[in-house]
Amino acid sequence: MSERIALHEGAMEVSDAAGMTDASGVSHQVRFDEDLCTGCGLCEAFCPMEVIAMEEGAPRAVHAEACWGCETCSGQCPVHAIRIEATAQAAQETDEQPAPPLAEEVREQYREWARVLREVLGLRWHPVAVSLIREGEPLPDVPLPEERLRYCQALMAARRGRALMMPANRHACPDGTSILGLSPIPKKLASGELYILFHKLDSVEAARRMVAERPSLPPRSVRATVTCPLDDPRCEAEVVAVIGTPEQMMWLSMATSYYTGHRHDFHASGYNAQCVETTLIPLTSGEINISFGCYGCRASSDVDDSLMMMGIPVTLMDEVVRGLRELGRRAIPQSRDKVYLPPF
Ligand code: SF4
Ligand code: SF4
Repeated sequence: MSERIALHEGAMEVSDAAGMTDASGVSHQVRFDEDLCTGCGLCEAFCPMEVIAMEEGAPRAVHAEACWGCETCSGQCPVHAIRIEATAQAAQETDEQPAPPLAEEVREQYREWARVLREVLGLRWHPVAVSLIREGEPLPDVPLPEERLRYCQALMAARRGRALMMPANRHACPDGTSILGLSPIPKKLASGELYILFHKLDSVEAARRMVAERPSLPPRSVRATVTCPLDDPRCEAEVVAVIGTPEQMMWLSMATSYYTGHRHDFHASGYNAQCVETTLIPLTSGEINISFGCYGCRASSDVDDSLMMMGIPVTLMDEVVRGLRELGRRAIPQSRDKVYLPPF
């Protein structure tokens, strides 16, 4: 494995809210509707950043500066009494020189890959080029979102044609952001406490195991994530993410095996779909990986129930595209024509 994609090993760096505050990004105000609020305390319990505390039976944003705008509190409030307002935004995070533009021949190659994937598979939307800009590397010239977004939301925006670069202060999901090496992991996530609250795992032990078994990059080893439509790339991609139907995933899987006959060992769990299963596993293993999606990406993006995801390391793209072209000559059209369907 190259130094560039060294995984995080050893004890996790866990941070409290104050340790994850970055004043240079989008800031938020947490508004509570006192007429609606019942004082149940769920917002305090679910906030991963420990922004909210109950005081005399009412919620207060006691660490508003640490709010990431993740909307977990508003999503869990049973009476919809919380509104998160983005209140300020920084200009571009630095005035440093951007990285040189992507070489034209690389752009052309990515566009050709995108064309074949879309035409042969019949993809409705764009495949997504994913890059992680490491510490010490120059940032490419890609727009920042006006508000914090989850990584999965940025990936889905790229799928719909919007290129985005997100340093830590534009990421809204503390879990994905720590997995991708932009920040330490918040205490409540590292302990597994939040997974139990969400009823996503049975016990703290199970939650800790799930967290320990997933790959992650060392905290603060990554400056920014860049997600672009593959046919409008801004920097060299490391992984190509494809969102499509199970049938389209099947053909991609076969395209990857076309020249070798290799059967894949996929790692799919339903936890951390975009950051772990679609991005980090392909990036660190050099193999394609499949994902059924996860609670977070399905709850916070437009990805519908019929879709799943695949991450393809860019090093395999040439082979995958060539294999797909071959499958497109006969196997794909015949299968779609249901040539063996009995006439009854
Ligand atoms: S979750 Fe909603 S109802 Fe419960 S304390 Fe928080 S704001 Fe009030
Ligand atoms: S938006 Fe997220 S970080 Fe902000 S208060 Fe709500 S749960 Fe906490």
